[in-house]
Amino acid sequence: MGRTFVFECPKCQYRAYVAGGADGGFHVAVQTILCQQCKELHDAVVRLRVPWTPPLQRGWPVQATLSRLTRQASSVPRHPPPFLQALNRLWPRGVRHSRWIEFPLLCPKGAWHSVRPWSRPDCCPKCGVIMEQNALPYRLWD
Ligand SMILES: [Zn+2]
Ligand SMILES: [Zn+2]
Repeated sequence: MGRTFVFECPKCQYRAYVAGGADGGFHVAVQTILCQQCKELHDAVVRLRVPWTPPLQRGWPVQATLSRLTRQASSVPRHPPPFLQALNRLWPRGVRHSRWIEFPLLCPKGAWHSVRPWSRPDCCPKCGVIMEQNALPYRLWD
């Protein structure tokens, strides 16, 4: 079970709704990042569970197997999806097997942005003051 907290800067009132570090649920794992370009905190998706077909169930003949493999490979995103999009992904019915795919730490607003991991207690991305965390989680997710 992952948790999203509200972090607030006591000086400039900047607010962020993020995990506040590394966290994960059944389908998604995130790491909170500080982006130098956005001057904001984001939850970056670092792992995503995707449907997976075991080799023995991939069918025959070889041609069909190959085209299915190609389709599967192309459906794996190269960039991590935004966190909320990853959470709201529809899971295809009848999927019995899955695997994790991993992503590098990237800003969801731009893959070229420079980011660093952010873990509470840590600084406000706007003014550098230590941010305060709301005790109660804002959202629980899977
Ligand atoms: Zn601030
Ligand atoms: Zn950014």
